[in-house]
Amino acid sequence: MSEDKMITVQVMERKVKVPPSLTIIKALEYAGYKLTHGVGCRAGFCGACGTVYRMPGEAKLHFALACQTVVQDGMYLTQIPFFPGQKPAYDVTMLMPDAAAVLKVFPETINCLGCNTCTKACPQDLEVMHYVAASLRGDVEALADLSFDCIMCGLCVARCPAELVPPHIGLLGRRLYSLHVLPKAPDLATRIADMDGGAYRDQVAELKVRSAAEIKTQYVARDIEPE
Ligand code: SF4
Ligand code: SF4
Repeated sequence: MSEDKMITVQVMERKVKVPPSLTIIKALEYAGYKLTHGVGCRAGFCGACGTVYRMPGEAKLHFALACQTVVQDGMYLTQIPFFPGQKPAYDVTMLMPDAAAVLKVFPETINCLGCNTCTKACPQDLEVMHYVAASLRGDVEALADLSFDCIMCGLCVARCPAELVPPHIGLLGRRLYSLHVLPKAPDLATRIADMDGGAYRDQVAELKVRSAAEIKTQYVARDIEPE
């Protein structure tokens, strides 16, 4: 692409020219950065590439997935280092679907300030503050529902002034909801018993030796069960 069709972005204070059609991840790679962290599926699902950027003249920080956001002229880009959120171990089968369970595993949840900073940081547009509030009410159905599309990117964790870990609170809610509230699926139990009995061993062995392209073709051509 000719220079005059390129746009300029700033990567850690270095100005670089990149094609305007690139996502932030591709622009960083175009600029010569080799990304070994903070990049995963490149399709908006894994949550590894949460990023923060600012536009010239704006005070606002923008939160996004670097694989899903196209660059704009003048963007200030940076990559966020990996910082794992606090992830306590617990046995979900020993917990009931209530607020006491949430506070037992995540006692800091009580410190939520109701500031909504988490919601503003969420690239999935989830109502993060509302699901944290649902956890404090012991409403695991709302907690599971509102957090369902969380991709664990951790951007809300980075911004929470009360040092809460909303994605893990949401995950606890979804586990409690499926364990205690959702009706059991009898077909699932049958299928698991079949698997335990080795019913699919040959098919799995066959899949393991196929190429990725063959598996993709088979996946696209699969029969989808009617709802
Ligand atoms: S709730 Fe938090 S961890 Fe989940 S997608 Fe939104 S910002 Fe990322
Ligand atoms: S950012 Fe933290 S303190 Fe503020 S509403 Fe969200 S969870 Fe609560």
